[in-house]
Amino acid sequence: MLLQTPKAFMPFPTSEIGLFHILRRSQPRFDTTRSIHYGNKTLKIPKTSIKVFREVPKLREWRRQQLLDYRSVGLVPTMGALHEGHISLIRMAARENHRVVVSIYVNPTQFGVHEDLDSYPKTWEKDCEMLRELDQELAEDGSNLGTVSAVFAPTTSTMYPSGRPSQEVDGKGSFVTITPVGELLEGTTRPTFFRGVATVCMKLFNIVAPERVYFGQKDVQQTVVIKKMVKDFFLDMDVVVGPTQREPDGLALSSRNVYLGTRRRKVATVLSKVLQVAEAGYLRGHRSRDELLGPAGELAKLLLMEQNQMLPEERVKFEVDYISLADPETMEELEEVDETRGAILSGAIKMLPVESPQPGEDLGLSDGPPVRLIDNIILKPIG
Ligand code: AMP
Repeated sequence: MLLQTPKAFMPFPTSEIGLFHILRRSQPRFDTTRSIHYGNKTLKIPKTSIKVFREVPKLREWRRQQLLDYRSVGLVPTMGALHEGHISLIRMAARENHRVVVSIYVNPTQFGVHEDLDSYPKTWEKDCEMLRELDQELAEDGSNLGTVSAVFAPTTSTMYPSGRPSQEVDGKGSFVTITPVGELLEGTTRPTFFRGVATVCMKLFNIVAPERVYFGQKDVQQTVVIKKMVKDFFLDMDVVVGPTQREPDGLALSSRNVYLGTRRRKVATVLSKVLQVAEAGYLRGHRSRDELLGPAGELAKLLLMEQNQMLPEERVKFEVDYISLADPETMEELEEVDETRGAILSGAIKMLPVESPQPGEDLGLSDGPPVRLIDNIILKPIG
C-alpha cells in the first residue's frame, strides 16, 4: 500500500480518517496502549460488520479472541483491486472457516525496480463495495461456516518495521527466499518477485496466524512457492488453492486487465488458446514435450502472423515470454509427462502498447502500457 503517496490510495473514507486521527491524538501521551487502541472505536467498512485493521497489535488482539472462542480463521492475501477471482477465494474461505481475514496490501518488494509499482491499480472504495456486497450475499446464504470478519490494510512502515528494503536484486533486508522454484519461469523475468511474495506472505502469516491460507491457481508458481515455504518452515496452516476464474472467452481475470483497452482485450485470449491446444494433446494421450508444446508454439506463431498482416491501427502485437511444461512440485521443465504425477502447463505473454491509437479509442488505464499476462492449466494425473 503506497501511503507515501497519500492521494494514490485512500484506505478509508476521509470522514473515517479524520476520526482515526482524532481518536489517536486524543490518547494521553503516557498511554502505552496508544498504538493498540484507536479509542474504543474499531474502524469498519461502512454498513458492514467488517473490521478494518491497519496495525498489528489490534489485529493480534482480535485473533487471540478467536482462538479463545474456538473460531477458525482463514486468510486471503490480496493486493486489492478486487475482482471475481479474489471474491471466489473469499467465498471458499467463508465456507471453511468461522472468520475470514482479507489482506489488502500492495507489496513494494515484489515489484522490480522498473516494474509498475506506482501505477498498480488502487481501488479502496470499490474494494469496500465488493466486500460489502459479498458480506450481504454470505449473510443471505446460510450454508457458509463464516463470513468476512476483517480487512488487514497495513502501511509499508507497518509491514517493514526496520525500513522498506531495496527492490534491487542484490538489495539487503530480511527476506525469505525459496529456491530453486522461485528462480524459474516468472522468477527469470522478475528476479525479486518470489522473494517479495514469500517475504510478505511470511509476515502476513505470522501476523494473522490463520488455520488456512487461500491462493488462486491463476498464479500457479506462487502456490508452489508458498506450499514449499509452509512445509520447509513448519508453518502451522493449510494452503488451499482455488480454481482460476475467467471471462466468458477464457481470459483469466487479473487486476492488470484494466490496462488492456478494447483492442488488446480482444487478442488477450491468445495465451489461454495456446495452453488449451497443449492440454488437448495431453487429453488425446500425448506425453512428450514436443508433442504437447509443438502445436501450442505453432498456434502462437499463427495468431501473431494474423495480427502482423493487419493495418497498424487495427493490429495488436504481443511477445511470448515462455510456454512451459513443468513438474507440479518443482516447476522444473519436463521432457516427458509422468502421467501419475501430471504437469503444469503455463505461459506468459507481453501485450505491447497499440500502434496508431485512434481518436477516442479506449486504450485502457494509464493509456495502455505494456501488459504482461500469465496463465496456466494443470494436467491432472491419470489413474
Ligand atoms: P493479487 O491481488 O493479484 O495478488 O491476487 C491475490 C490472490 O488472488 C492470489 O492468490 C491470486 O492467485 C488470486 N487470483 C488472482 N486472479 C485470480 C483469478 N482469475 N482466479 C482465481 N484467483 C485469482
